[in-house]
Amino acid sequence: MSRTKGGASRRAFLKAGAVAAAAPFPASAQTPADPQLARLKAARRVVLRGGVVLTLDRQIGDFVRADVLIEDGKIREVRPDIQVSAESAEIIDATNRIVTPGFVDTHSHSYQGLLRGFLPNGVVYPDYDRDIQNNITSRYTPSDAWAGVLVTALGMIDMGTTCVVDISQVAHTPEHSDANIQALRDAGIRAVFAYSRGLGPAAKYPADLARMKVAHFSSADQLLTPALAVSTDPKVFAMARELDVRAVLHIRLNSAPLIALARAGLMKPGDEYVHCAHLNDEAWRAIRDSGGRTSHSPPLEMAMGHGFPAIQDALDHGMRPSLSCDHAATVGMDMFGMMRTAFNLQRLGIQQRQRNGEQNTPPLLTCREVLEFATIEGARCAALDHKTGTLTPGKDADLLMLRYDDPNIWPLNNACSAVVNLMNPGHVENVFVAGKVRNWRGALVDVDRARVLSLVAAARDSVVRKSGLPMNLLG
Ligand SMILES: [Zn+2]
Repeated sequence: MSRTKGGASRRAFLKAGAVAAAAPFPASAQTPADPQLARLKAARRVVLRGGVVLTLDRQIGDFVRADVLIEDGKIREVRPDIQVSAESAEIIDATNRIVTPGFVDTHSHSYQGLLRGFLPNGVVYPDYDRDIQNNITSRYTPSDAWAGVLVTALGMIDMGTTCVVDISQVAHTPEHSDANIQALRDAGIRAVFAYSRGLGPAAKYPADLARMKVAHFSSADQLLTPALAVSTDPKVFAMARELDVRAVLHIRLNSAPLIALARAGLMKPGDEYVHCAHLNDEAWRAIRDSGGRTSHSPPLEMAMGHGFPAIQDALDHGMRPSLSCDHAATVGMDMFGMMRTAFNLQRLGIQQRQRNGEQNTPPLLTCREVLEFATIEGARCAALDHKTGTLTPGKDADLLMLRYDDPNIWPLNNACSAVVNLMNPGHVENVFVAGKVRNWRGALVDVDRARVLSLVAAARDSVVRKSGLPMNLLG
């Protein structure tokens, strides 16, 4: 595809998406018709019949075998033997499936979906800072931002992540921001759009969020909500308060600016703190006592030099951490990998302390706790726990069916262990977001795969060419 043609088609695609908020992908592009999928898309009531159900709601408990009734996009009931007729609901056989809440990723720079693996052996300074933050990012047009966010969000849904906090960092113009938001909408993912500082003279950060709140976020009854990605500059933090949105802050290594924000009374419940590596006790208390939540990216932090992942620090301060991918330029974005890394890292740390003779060490994390980090704690961090994160009646039906009748995982002996330590994205079979089927029998629904792949490759080619950086496919 030529650059001109590719650009034109991306623009046309974006425009079509902007006009028709739903279903930007032609239905004719789907994989061969599946009669149950067709019925499911039209059904007002759906029953997932006979799965192992991990509600992760401690009041309701979990079930060796139960049904989940979805009605008008919401979870209505979870219990064994829900009586409904095949005429009044679409019934999905969940035998040999684990039903869980969808995963919540609390920190993603999704526009970098174009750059998956581009920095294979990079560290944050100098590689990432030089090549991604201060070079390629500046090359993005709005349609490149749209393509990057779209492919990230579709990939997340495919891997079981139904909700993401997207920290844009590509908001070079209001058009970039609009394209970023449109891509999240087109993908059909639940998302917090955390408006972040872009590059160049046309950036309208942070004031443009006031426009976007009206243009994109006027309804609370939608999948997208706004936040402001802030720096430790008190003036910027105060803007979040003025705009009445949550603040999302990257913070690590240096506690002093955070403590200053706390003393200025600028930190509020619902604010999110990313990484938090090597903060001191006072900074941790400031986060906890203000009602903040934390997001940790163990694989990326370990690979790229962000500091020792602060999972245990959060636990030591009475907080429950959430998990996030950060970006895909160096490590993967699947929540299974993040859960596994968190589980292994925390347990290694504690057992090493025991081996060194320390008494009264904190408990080892369990699989269930780590699964909570990836679901309900993520929802709390995103301030969306009233909508998602557990399979609680009344919440939106954001849920996964994970298959375990494969030789690579059979037989099932413990559901939490299977999800956290044995499964991978290949076990994600069906994905629902607010009751809408987004992945069915392992394939994205209503997505023209060939067209998405082609647009994403063209956008990748464009930003990499403009950056002057070499493609290194084999090195
Ligand atoms: Zn980040």
